[in-house]
Amino acid sequence: MNQTSLQIILASPRGFCAGVERAVSIVEKALEIYGAPVYVRHEIVHNQRVLRDLRAKGAVFVAKLDDVPEGAITVFSAHGVSQKVVDRAEERQLPTIDATCPLVTKVHSKGKNYAKKGYEIILIGHEGHPEVEGTMGRIEGVVHLVSTSQDVQSLTIQNDNKLAYITQTTLSVDDTKDIIHALKQRFPNIQGGDVSDICYATQNRQDAVRALAKQVDMIFVMGAKNSSNSNRLQEIGIELGVKSYLIESYHEIEMAWFQSVESIGITAGASAPESVVQELIEFLSQKYDVTVKTLETIKEDIYFNLPRQLRQVS
Ligand code: SF4
Repeated sequence: MNQTSLQIILASPRGFCAGVERAVSIVEKALEIYGAPVYVRHEIVHNQRVLRDLRAKGAVFVAKLDDVPEGAITVFSAHGVSQKVVDRAEERQLPTIDATCPLVTKVHSKGKNYAKKGYEIILIGHEGHPEVEGTMGRIEGVVHLVSTSQDVQSLTIQNDNKLAYITQTTLSVDDTKDIIHALKQRFPNIQGGDVSDICYATQNRQDAVRALAKQVDMIFVMGAKNSSNSNRLQEIGIELGVKSYLIESYHEIEMAWFQSVESIGITAGASAPESVVQELIEFLSQKYDVTVKTLETIKEDIYFNLPRQLRQVS
């Protein structure tokens, strides 16, 4: 079949969330105020396009705080950092700007409050993710990391009556519900609330991709392979029986994927810029006679202020 037409349905909301917008603006504003270079510990957000654009403006991304030269302006990424990193920055007297998403900070506070009251804490999240490392490193006391319902069965807890859970912000809503269910079955007195630590952007993008999956033959999730929330979007598409690809740009596309496909859905992870979506549409427009429509599941109007130190300087 020589197919000439293709329907494209865009998920809405998709792409940048308020935390990512804020983190990117923080680096841009810091460059504007203090001049280049501005050092950023870890990738400010998980997206190569965003990093490339910021590098071009003078941002330098480093894996360790000790890679930052003496006295250089240092930004902490949107994923948050451990207390050890904060202490080390103070010890080195680095001028720091914290781009941690306020919703991640909220999880830190929740965990710290439980710990202060003597609770043992279970963090639901993915091992090795910078947000998880940051959250675990903010809480004084015992923190157990679980990633699956099976992990719950192998936990060794000191006191079932002083136990609480918190979660990473970018998890699968459904998987997290299952893990919380397993926790409540095993520890009926555990404290914690529904899946409330999963942020609004993660939940909204997951709901949108679910709606999209009902209407299309194939889904593209624009996002980085190391982006937690982007991976969850691809998983949902696959779970709903729609072939789904996680790609950073249209260059990764293989035309064989389009065989027997009449409609595609496009979404983007919370750290993927809209430009990668538009470039994909442009690419497909050169191959097919495309029609583009948007499927809006919810309107987002969340905005986070910049840190005070950047707001005071105009
Ligand atoms: Fe904040 Fe959620 Fe965006 Fe992460 S995905 S930066 S927690 S709003």
